[in-house]
Amino acid sequence: MKLCPYCNKKSYSADGKGQWRCPYCNKDLTNMELQIPDRTGDNVDIKVGYGEDGESD
Ligand SMILES: [Zn+2]
Repeated sequence: MKLCPYCNKKSYSADGKGQWRCPYCNKDLTNMELQIPDRTGDNVDIKVGYGEDGESD
């Protein structure tokens, strides 16, 4: 994903010819930095072992 600096919209893929153009304003985003969408921005509280344990005898 690349964030277009011209219109601030998100562009998700290149056009197949190695060029990456913004689908909204058609600017060339080929040399723009690729943004990796991660989920570490917020307080991610990962609970390990949450759920049914299935303890049976
Ligand atoms: Zn754009």
